[in-house]
Amino acid sequence: MAEVSPDATLKAMPPTLAPTTIVGMDMPEIQAALGSGHPKFRAQQIYEAVYHQRVRSLDEITTIPKSLRDALPLGLPEIAKIYDSADGTRRYLLKLHDGKTVESVWMPEGERATICISSQVGCPVDCKFCLTALMGLERSLTAGEIVGQVLRVAGDQGVEPNVDRLNIVMMGQGEPLLNLPNVLKATRLLVDQRGGAIAPRRIAVSTSGIIPKIIELGQAEIRPKLAISLNASHEEQRQQIMPITRKYHLADLMDVCRAYPLKPREKIMFEYVLLKGVNDTDADAERVRKLLAKIDTVVNLIALNPGPGIPFGTPDPERVASFQAIIRKSFPCYVRKPRGLDVYAACGQLSRQEAGPFPVLA
Ligand code: SAH
Ligand code: SF4
Repeated sequence: MAEVSPDATLKAMPPTLAPTTIVGMDMPEIQAALGSGHPKFRAQQIYEAVYHQRVRSLDEITTIPKSLRDALPLGLPEIAKIYDSADGTRRYLLKLHDGKTVESVWMPEGERATICISSQVGCPVDCKFCLTALMGLERSLTAGEIVGQVLRVAGDQGVEPNVDRLNIVMMGQGEPLLNLPNVLKATRLLVDQRGGAIAPRRIAVSTSGIIPKIIELGQAEIRPKLAISLNASHEEQRQQIMPITRKYHLADLMDVCRAYPLKPREKIMFEYVLLKGVNDTDADAERVRKLLAKIDTVVNLIALNPGPGIPFGTPDPERVASFQAIIRKSFPCYVRKPRGLDVYAACGQLSRQEAGPFPVLA
């Protein structure tokens, strides 16, 4: 194949452009992809149309020449299937360019809505209570595939940029901090005023505790809020249910959290999945209070969402309430409402489940 010179114009470039797509590019990258021979404002026009106006096809940008619209692949994921929950939650199965599929979840709540997005297809971290873990890791997502989930779902829901209150949580499939460069690039595109225009405080990333990457995240100028999946009250218990703890110890994780450079009014969120008879006693709650001492935090309790192959039970509401009351002596503590449980859309359930029998909490 003939080599394409670096300054080749767009016309000569389709073979090089083919594997890359506009979604995921920042403004200078779009400029470079266009090549010379285009007015400077063209890249900005495309950038704003894609990330801010959330066009679904470049054909909607009527102000750019048709030849250009045909030459540039946009690269939004396709909606392969939609699963609607009785509670208004909607699980999207999205198809990527290589045919792989990944999931995102739309959760409306009054005037607000949250989109839960994935960072990887499957997950390499082997948490024993999580259905995504059973998929293993298929691959990480590109920045474009991470942003593309927001654009596709927000577009499908008719969310108006800058008008509707939208939260983004990177709590879908995958361990986001094992894909940090793409997560950070996606965040920059989402928060940029000319791009997604979503405030950084409205974007959160959740991690199983990849210590060196938490440090790296803290150093990033533009970054989402940090949530840590604690899930255990002591080292041995955490090693049993989250084997990653054998590599990244609980005490070190707490040290890193204490040293995390929080911005004004920012807190670290700790998530704690309650597993019946395993980590849900009052003694566990007291230990968690001690662990989190001196950290500016808010705690989210999640009663286990069940699924096929998950060898744990869901504690009853009284147990959850008792645990919450103890944590509340020291920190704000909320119980996360399961959303989309009936269509496998809730926390830890994303694993491309096709149809019922759907889990129901007793
Ligand atoms: N991989 C990241 C983010 C995705 S998981 C992480 O682990 O933090 C999002 C949240 O769901 C985590 O807090 C995780 O502990 C929780 N979770 C996993 N499986 C669950 C289950 N079966 N029921 C309830 N919460 C679960
Ligand atoms: Fe991966 Fe998070 Fe599930 Fe653990 S809880 S297996 S890190 S998705």
